[in-house]
Amino acid sequence: MDFRYKRIVFLTGAGISAESGVRTFRDSSGLWENHKVEEVASPSGFQKDPVLVWKFYSLRRLQAAEAKPNKAHATLANLLHDLEKSHSKATLITQNVDTLHERAYGALPDKNFLDIHGTLSRSRCTKCSKVYSDRWAYFDATGKSVDIHADDLWSNASLTCLLTTPKRNANGIPLSPCCTEQLRPDIVWFGERPQGVEKAVEELTRCDLFVAIGTSGNVQPASNFAAVARKAGAHTVCINLESPENAGAFHEHLLGTAGDKLPEFLKKI
Ligand SMILES: [Zn+2]
Repeated sequence: MDFRYKRIVFLTGAGISAESGVRTFRDSSGLWENHKVEEVASPSGFQKDPVLVWKFYSLRRLQAAEAKPNKAHATLANLLHDLEKSHSKATLITQNVDTLHERAYGALPDKNFLDIHGTLSRSRCTKCSKVYSDRWAYFDATGKSVDIHADDLWSNASLTCLLTTPKRNANGIPLSPCCTEQLRPDIVWFGERPQGVEKAVEELTRCDLFVAIGTSGNVQPASNFAAVARKAGAHTVCINLESPENAGAFHEHLLGTAGDKLPEFLKKI
């Protein structure tokens, strides 16, 4: 199988997961599950109350585990598998932390997959930044912390499949095997730098097709990616329910759900 484009970069945002029922959490008053954003999603919030932050992310992990990849995730995953067998190369950059791309793909697309806002399926040592995959720290309904393997959780979201309990501090916060320091979710919080942006920009400046799916175009640095790719000579395409804030950076606009528009568009590449 051969493709018209040789280097393709996909960027996905919350819109691709909306059809899977992934909630964005923030209500009209700007609160996340009744918490201020800085209490549950900032380094200072974690320092102040790590138990609250872990409880909040336990809930997010549960809700992500209950969501299923949708048609758009599946279409993109199939295309990535096809591209691997072709002379073209694809990079998938996502702003989502919900793990739905990995699950649709069947594994991690590895070096060509950049989750620039982190992911719910990893934890990180607060001392040396070593990252741990697939070990999910949870608090159950009684506030007791429990450990669950992500694969088990995806097949059984009822919190019944407990694995071994790693070390914890007096508050029940899981401690890293490397430094015996607190683990934190490997999520990019407010005030932190997105991950892998240099690699993303490198791909953007070399691509000949850039496709943004379900992004509102108002979150930096991803909102600049279309302009970077376009300046480098790429054809730029936007698939979204409505025109994004950075609409001027795109040659082509496909308005509609990702589940409808993505398969249609991919037939042409
Ligand atoms: Zn460490």
